[in-house]
Amino acid sequence: MRAKIAAGNWKMNGLSAALAEVGALAAAHPAPGCTVLICPPATLLAQMNWQVGQAKAPFHIGGQDCHPAASGAHTGDLSAAMLKDAGASHVILGHSERRADHGESDALVRAKAGAAHAAGLIAVICVGETESQRDDGTTLAVIAAQLAGSVPDGATPANSVIAYEPVWAIGTGRTPTLAEIAEVHADIRARLADRFGAAAAGFSLLYGGSVKPSNAAEIFAVAHVDGALVGGASLKAADFGAIIAALDAA
Ligand code: PEP
Repeated sequence: MRAKIAAGNWKMNGLSAALAEVGALAAAHPAPGCTVLICPPATLLAQMNWQVGQAKAPFHIGGQDCHPAASGAHTGDLSAAMLKDAGASHVILGHSERRADHGESDALVRAKAGAAHAAGLIAVICVGETESQRDDGTTLAVIAAQLAGSVPDGATPANSVIAYEPVWAIGTGRTPTLAEIAEVHADIRARLADRFGAAAAGFSLLYGGSVKPSNAAEIFAVAHVDGALVGGASLKAADFGAIIAALDAA
């Protein structure tokens, strides 16, 4: 039985006042039937951890990136252990915005995932094709290469989640067809099976890219979709709550 996960990526959004959304979410969804993960900016992690504890909400919180080193002279960076210390259980790695904005390679994402595992964090490793790659018909090859390069050998269903996020669907309101999502998720499962054998069946696979209350249920009905990584719609409790409800019902 795979974990169903509704993961919110706040990206570079949210000051302390935004924590009210988490309070509203906790009040509306005190006992979700899925894993609820919220990844705020690092500046809010400790406050959100405190708030979730106060509300006795079964929510997990996570970082949006970590450095591959355990400590050292890396001004402005955060180690996986620091995220863990602030209350994180997960960390998003290899998001397409980090790959694009910071030139993150598969090898770097893999090293970060290894650091996350060493610190006891669950790595949410993102893969996804650009629009031109989809147009060229290379989507599955691109994702296979990203998986091979970004997922460390020590990955297990307990320490890793894979998020399929087509770059062209992130923040655009556009989504692949359900058949396209099904094709990629089945292929990811097959690639994991090639590498990890029977354990592949246990990895949770998330879809990400313009998931919202109006399309969540149909996406969650697709085979091998075990939840979603949600950007914009995770910022408002009402929208993220509707997505959580859709996943609970799936
Ligand atoms: C994301 O940033 O991971 C994402 C999926 O964003 P959005 O839901 O806004 O497309």
